[in-house]
Amino acid sequence: MTTTRRTRIWVRGTNWVGDSILTIPALEALRRARPEAEITLAVRPWVSELFEQTSAVDHIQVYDRSLQHRGWRGRSRFVSELGRERFDIAILFPNSFESAYLAWKAGIPERIGYATDGRSLLLTRRLNISREILFQHQSLYYLEILRQAGFIPLLPPVPQVSLVISGTRHQRARQLLSAKGVSEGKLLVGLNPGAFYGSAKRWLPDRYAALADRFVDASGADVLIFGSASERTMADSIAHEMRHPAKIFSGETTLGDLAALLKCCSLFVTNDSGPMHLAAAVGTRTVAIFGPTDSQTTAPLGPHTRVVKHPVSCSPCLLRECPLDHRCMTSVSVEDVYRVAAGLLSL
Ligand code: SF4
Repeated sequence: MTTTRRTRIWVRGTNWVGDSILTIPALEALRRARPEAEITLAVRPWVSELFEQTSAVDHIQVYDRSLQHRGWRGRSRFVSELGRERFDIAILFPNSFESAYLAWKAGIPERIGYATDGRSLLLTRRLNISREILFQHQSLYYLEILRQAGFIPLLPPVPQVSLVISGTRHQRARQLLSAKGVSEGKLLVGLNPGAFYGSAKRWLPDRYAALADRFVDASGADVLIFGSASERTMADSIAHEMRHPAKIFSGETTLGDLAALLKCCSLFVTNDSGPMHLAAAVGTRTVAIFGPTDSQTTAPLGPHTRVVKHPVSCSPCLLRECPLDHRCMTSVSVEDVYRVAAGLLSL
């Protein structure tokens, strides 16, 4: 009896947390379009935990340029790994030259991606980035690759995105909360006052502190502050400024832990950031404060999300640091955010 070999698809995922979450609808669409295919998703180590529960892909391949795939030797090793897998199709979500180079060098016969970054000659399907797609939600940018390549007939409306938290992760989150003295059954309000991209995206720390105190006063909530290790000082200063105590998790969580902790929160208030998309994806009510970036293209997805922004003529500037007086953020008051958040929580 002869067995038919499954088509093997290699998908190069994006590198950052928010972008990676916004590729999930495209991965799910690919799975629906090619249920019989064997799909491998290659991602950088820091986002790999995002995909541990997804059924959209069969395998996660970690591309670690700081360890085993470091330097030209490491890259050659990665190309050899790809070559051994004998993939039939490469789908490239990033626009980088490197992603196309790796697929070409590994001899993957069909290589599909946007014709950007001087890589056209390395692609077998060179896709156009239309002006319209740049003004639509970023999740559609990845779905458009599948549409142009013929995997899906039409672009869907702006999709939902959802991430499942495993029982083990949930249990660990409960342990982390309990270690900080948070008891079960309390209303938890999470804050994300940082933004890796730069200070322009950050709402003011003293306003986060005042907002958090209002939640404690109104509902007896426990306040959890999240962020990276480099944002720890900011978290400490917010906690110091608050009248009520807060629990600080900045720099203490892996991405998988963070997802599970966010799932435990009743509300998450955040700047435009990776954790914003993560909270929305796990289904937590999310209030996102936008300033220099475009909420039309990068708003969190889902019915339980809200954007707060103040219209200023210089936005979106997409700058990391504000060259003016940061009016896009200073004009968002504590009352503006509290009103929207309280509405979501039905307080
Ligand atoms: S230039 Fe305008 S939109 Fe950009 S950060 Fe400054 S105030 Fe905000």
